Amino acid sequence: MNRGAVAEIDRSALRYNICSIRERTNHRAIIAVVKADAYGHGSVEVARVLAAQGADYLAVAFVEEARTLREAGIETRILVLFDRSDYPACFDLNLIPVIHDKKDAVAVSNESRKRRKTLPVHIKIDTGMGRMGLRAESAADDVLEISTFEGVMVEGLLSHFSEADLDDKTFALQQLSLFRRLCAKITEQTGLAPVCHMANSAAVFSFPDAMLNAVRPGIALYGYSCDGGEHGLLPVMKITTRVIAVRILPAGSPVSYARTFVTKRTTRIAVVALGYADGFNRLFSNNAEMLVRGQRVPVVGRVCMDLTMLDVTELEHVAEGDEVVVLGAQRGQAIMASELSQRIGTIPYEILTSLGNRSKREYVH
Ligand SMILES: *Cc1c(COP(=O)(O)O)cnc(C)c1O
Repeated sequence: MNRGAVAEIDRSALRYNICSIRERTNHRAIIAVVKADAYGHGSVEVARVLAAQGADYLAVAFVEEARTLREAGIETRILVLFDRSDYPACFDLNLIPVIHDKKDAVAVSNESRKRRKTLPVHIKIDTGMGRMGLRAESAADDVLEISTFEGVMVEGLLSHFSEADLDDKTFALQQLSLFRRLCAKITEQTGLAPVCHMANSAAVFSFPDAMLNAVRPGIALYGYSCDGGEHGLLPVMKITTRVIAVRILPAGSPVSYARTFVTKRTTRIAVVALGYADGFNRLFSNNAEMLVRGQRVPVVGRVCMDLTMLDVTELEHVAEGDEVVVLGAQRGQAIMASELSQRIGTIPYEILTSLGNRSKREYVH
């Protein structure tokens, strides 16, 4: 549905970012993470671009996301990170599930035997994230056992960092050494040569030892990092909307719910078509800027469900229908997702998914 906001997705920036990642990783295999509708950028279009750029795998959270990609004709290998509910679909759609415990492996094996087929799987090992995966203490034995299950082909081993984005890499290094030791042991015991992967975007850019056989970048593909450093990547998403009314209010006029903003002078207010229902967080009330005619202007008053007000008194001209940039560049000025995320105490990921998944998307270049 078009609520007024448009997410412009720049395919050429996406191509540039995957090429940068490939160079940085010395051409290791890339498992491109496209979960959450490609972090708000639209998984089908993004997957098409990444597949054409030679991404070795795509990774999604759930089987239904993979189904959408297959139905759109995308044939790249797909890793399903978190779905433990539908192994039959993994056979039907040619997906590679991530296995988190022996019970998962038994379920795959049962389905394999029924179909007289073998399914490649990647096995997750918990080295300190404390979320999912085999516990490290028993992981080597468990993988050894799983590797004997009929119809289960252990193609890969993975683990996930909990803080590879921090400058202090002490814990990340512990996780990595543990994972490396386990990979070596498992390789030796099973005689398999699994693809070992652990590096998220943060590790790709600041922890090169963690790159192993393959890397799993998500946020970097879209031009950002966890902390706001952009590593020379290009932002892929731009969010724009329009001015739908311009009004002059005398000094002393309250603006929006709860009168959190009261004009101090004769003030020109632009009303823009974007609110918290479009993923523009209500915490941006009196706490963000947008670009109009190439200038930064402040959000004033509470963000409403469908509307937000800007103080445009300082602009020489502003008219109904003017483009408003919420995220991205306009005439040399830019508002980055990192800026927005810092204002409300979150991370660029949440800004991109919130805004991107509720705007009408347009693909350019
Ligand atoms: C989301 C995710 C990634 C990608 O992380 P980024 O920080 O976006 O690079 C990699 N691996 C797993 C298991 C994930 O869930």
